[in-house]
Amino acid sequence: MASQGKLVVITGPSGVGKSTIVRDVLERTGASFSVSATTRAPRAGEVDGTHYRFLDEAAFETLRREGRMLEWAQVFGHRYGTPAEPVRKALGEGKTVILEIDVQGGLQVHAQCPDGTFILIVPPSEAALAQRLAGRGTDSPEVVARRLAKAKDELIAASESGVYKHVVVNDDLEKAIARVVDIINKQE
Ligand code: 5GP
Repeated sequence: MASQGKLVVITGPSGVGKSTIVRDVLERTGASFSVSATTRAPRAGEVDGTHYRFLDEAAFETLRREGRMLEWAQVFGHRYGTPAEPVRKALGEGKTVILEIDVQGGLQVHAQCPDGTFILIVPPSEAALAQRLAGRGTDSPEVVARRLAKAKDELIAASESGVYKHVVVNDDLEKAIARVVDIINKQE
């Protein structure tokens, strides 16, 4: 993909604090956020077109089949994907574009855009992640266990891939945000 702007993929397991970090990083860098398409239902407070494009299965499948997704993945029973056109447009305008996606999606992006910046956010420990997932209080113990198992698989896949050159530990939130901003600004 020819581009003047910078493509940044931020990934990490569910519950690691990616969304909080990305929100601040967007404010501090002025980067554009790639709004993903998803087949899951909106959560309270989520706005269509801002947080996600909420699509039904048929609409998602059409986009995917027509090759209009930069990447897509099945996560916890729902499909998520990055519509390619807005990313291409923003890059063409010289903007920095941030994709907040899962590990496997990031690997698909890397296959097409190896020059991007690939950042993996990790928890300080497995216990800390387990505590965080349970502490959200929104999921049953079964769902928490499933998320934790996926987190372990994702971290192994991410490190084995060698794609995520930047690993940021979310121990201290402010430091993690500052580190990600630094990576993007220096375009390491
Ligand atoms: P949630 O449903 O909690 O918003 O997101 C669940 C997971 O899907 C998170 O790990 C999130 O990063 C990932 N995700 C969100 N959008 C995309 C996307 O467009 N592509 C991929 N591959 N994963 C995504």
